[in-house]
Amino acid sequence: METERVNLLNLTVSEAEEVLRGFCAERGLPDYRAKQVSRRLWFNPAPDFEAMTELPKSLRTQLADAFTLPRLSIAARQRSSDGTEKFLFMLRDGQAIESVAIPENDRLTLCISSQAGCALQCAFCATGAMGFQRNLDVFEIAGQVREMRLLDPPFQVTNVVFMGMGEPLMNWRAVDPALSLLNDPLGLGIGARHITVSTVGVLPGIIALGERPEQFRLAISIHAPTDALRRELMPVNIKYPLRDVIEAAKKFDRRVTFEYVMLGGVNDAIEHAIRLAELARECRAFVNLIPLHAGGAQGFVPTPADRIRSFAHELRSHGVEVAIRKSRGVDIAAACGQLRVERLGRRPPRGPDENGHVQVA
Ligand code: SAH
Repeated sequence: METERVNLLNLTVSEAEEVLRGFCAERGLPDYRAKQVSRRLWFNPAPDFEAMTELPKSLRTQLADAFTLPRLSIAARQRSSDGTEKFLFMLRDGQAIESVAIPENDRLTLCISSQAGCALQCAFCATGAMGFQRNLDVFEIAGQVREMRLLDPPFQVTNVVFMGMGEPLMNWRAVDPALSLLNDPLGLGIGARHITVSTVGVLPGIIALGERPEQFRLAISIHAPTDALRRELMPVNIKYPLRDVIEAAKKFDRRVTFEYVMLGGVNDAIEHAIRLAELARECRAFVNLIPLHAGGAQGFVPTPADRIRSFAHELRSHGVEVAIRKSRGVDIAAACGQLRVERLGRRPPRGPDENGHVQVA
C-alpha cells in the first residue's frame, strides 16, 4: 500500500528538517541535503521540488514521491488605485480565503486569514455574515505569505497582520506553529514585532500568545466601551465580556492596541470616547480608530471624518495615544470578507467543528 505523502509545509522549519534528515538517512543520502531542502520551503521558497534545480534530478523525484508542497491557487487578484492589492485564494476543498497586500513607504503589510469564514457574527463584518466554514491549516495560513514570495516579481512582505478572515485565537492550534514559520529566520524571517494578531478577545488565546517568548503584537477589537453596546455589536461579548478582556489586556506583558471601528450614530458619541479612554488608560493601550468599510454588513453608516477627528481629539485629551487608520483599497472592497462575498455570495452559517473550536456562546 502506498503511504501517504507528508506535507512539508504543515511543519515548522525544524520539524521539517528533522523529517528530511530521516528521509536522507533511510536512503543513504548526505545529511546536508535535509538543510538544503528545508531552506527551499520558506526561506527561499521553491514552487515545487522540480524547481529545486540545485538538487540532482533523482533526488527531486524521490522527494516528490515522499512529500508534498501544496500551493494556494490565486482565483482572483485586484489592484486598488492606492496600490493595495487583494488576493482571493482557492483552497483544495473549494474554500476561498483572502489576503490583502498594503504597501506603505518601505513597508509591505500582508493582511492574512486564519479561518474560512468566521463564527463570531460581528454585526458590521462581511466575514461574520458568511458564517464559519473551517479552520485553516498551518500551511494555509503561513502559505499566504509564501505565495507572495512566489509571485513574479516577488512581493517582499515586511509585516503581517491577522486581520483577514476569521478569528486567529479560535484556531490557535494552527496559528501557533504558523507564527513560528512567519518569524523563524530560516522560515519567512519576519520580526515578531512586525507580526500582529488581532482578536475579539478570546481569553485562552490571549494567554497562550502572551506565553510565547517572542514579541508578537496583540490587537484587540474593542468596538464598544460598554458591555451592553458591545454585546449588540459582537455576540462573543457574552462569552468573553469586556471586563475580562480588559483584565487580560492588562496582564499581557507587551503593549496592546485597541481597534475601534467607527459606526455612525452607534459608538461614536463623546461619552463613548470618554469611557473608551478610561479603558485604554487602564491597559496603557494604543487606540486605532478604523473608518467603517461600508458593505461589510448592512445597517451601518460610517462616522463622518470630522467626527472621527473629534473623537480622536477627545481620547488624546484624556492622555490616550490614538491613530486614525487610513482606509485602503476601498475601491476593491478590501475590508474583511468582502471579496469572497462578491465572488461566491453569502453561504449559510455552519455549526462548530467536532472539537467545539468555534463555539462562542
Ligand atoms: N477576528 C479578528 C481579526 C479579523 S477582523 C478580530 O475581530 O479582531 C480585523 C479587523 O477588521 C477587526 O478589528 C474587525 O472588527 C475589523 N472590521 C470588520 N469589518 C469591518 C468593516 N466593515 N469596516 C472596518 N473594519 C472592519
